Amino acid sequence: MQVPLLDLRRQLESYRDDAMAAIARVVDEQSCVLGAHVKQFEDEIATYCATPHAIGCASGTDAILLALRAVGVAAGEEVITTPYTFFATAGAIVNAKGRPVFVDIEADSYNLDATQIDDALNGRTRVIMPVHLYGQCAAMDAIGAIAERRGLAVVEDAAQALGAEDEGRRAGTMGDVGTFSFYPSKNLGGFGDGGMTTTSREDLAARIRSLRAHGGSRQYFHDAVGWNSRLDALQAAVLSVKLRRLEGWTEGRRANARFYDEAFAGIDGLTTPAVGRGKRHIYNQYVLRAERRDELRAHLSEHGIGSAIYYPLSLHLQPCFADLGYREGQFPEAERASRETLSIPVHPDLRDDERAHVADSVRAFFGA
Ligand SMILES: *Cc1c(COP(=O)(O)O)cnc(C)c1O
Repeated sequence: MQVPLLDLRRQLESYRDDAMAAIARVVDEQSCVLGAHVKQFEDEIATYCATPHAIGCASGTDAILLALRAVGVAAGEEVITTPYTFFATAGAIVNAKGRPVFVDIEADSYNLDATQIDDALNGRTRVIMPVHLYGQCAAMDAIGAIAERRGLAVVEDAAQALGAEDEGRRAGTMGDVGTFSFYPSKNLGGFGDGGMTTTSREDLAARIRSLRAHGGSRQYFHDAVGWNSRLDALQAAVLSVKLRRLEGWTEGRRANARFYDEAFAGIDGLTTPAVGRGKRHIYNQYVLRAERRDELRAHLSEHGIGSAIYYPLSLHLQPCFADLGYREGQFPEAERASRETLSIPVHPDLRDDERAHVADSVRAFFGA
């Protein structure tokens, strides 16, 4: 049996007709740039996240860049973030002319360890940017309290966490700006690139809207230097169709996670995802931890099971960030996570026999 990590073709069958009809409408209307379809999808995301403003853009990477430009990061000012995330989080900081300052992660959630943030603060710190990794919110109460005390902005990289909650608050609505990605492998993925920012602040919403269209509040008059980062109307139309199914898909992921949690309970040498109190985890990834991770991965591969390592090299050790002056051993939990974590299939179209095969194969590896 072959069980790929993700199977987008299988999911397509469930909404294909609606998506094709939505695409046909955009084509027929020829409202291809920031028309009614983008506006409608922005409104739907704002409603889904229960926040006043949602502004579409070209990608999750651009969403972070727009957020940082909007809250204001001057050249060399510092943005505190996690070293254990997709590259775009830190890449966007550098592209915004800021300096990434890494803080280690919590061993159990893999998210930014708020108790270590204080040590990284100084007069140049402007922003704290937690990432809701794998689909579980970071410690937003603690992060918000530090930001409030020090007058810092909070940007949430919620690319993996659309629909995740912390005490009933949706990811992307707990800081000043939330950023989302609609890259096809996210829980809500388009037929290409797309992104979104969310905010409850009118001033930031206006700034982001302006920056995504060359920094003009009306055409040909420019208050700031922005760039072209619009959400494509075809993507918006498809994403609207898929958003209506998102809760069902999310519950499917959560059911698969519960199945694995039970199947792997009590296995020596294997750790299942820890879900914090009050957190709704949406399992963009279901991530195991094992010291024998590489052997486990090879074993799964022999049994036809796809898996992935997110992420094999912590960002503070990336060659492109050598000039930041970090060294090996500085963030032990991030480094250990990059050696021990393994993502296994959790997507909502996984059949019962497939997830049973995954569970049996993992259990067999540990002799359970
Ligand atoms: C996917 C992702 C991004 C980037 O999104 P793109 O749409 O691919 O540009 C940023 N941060 C995290 C944590 C992500 O997972």
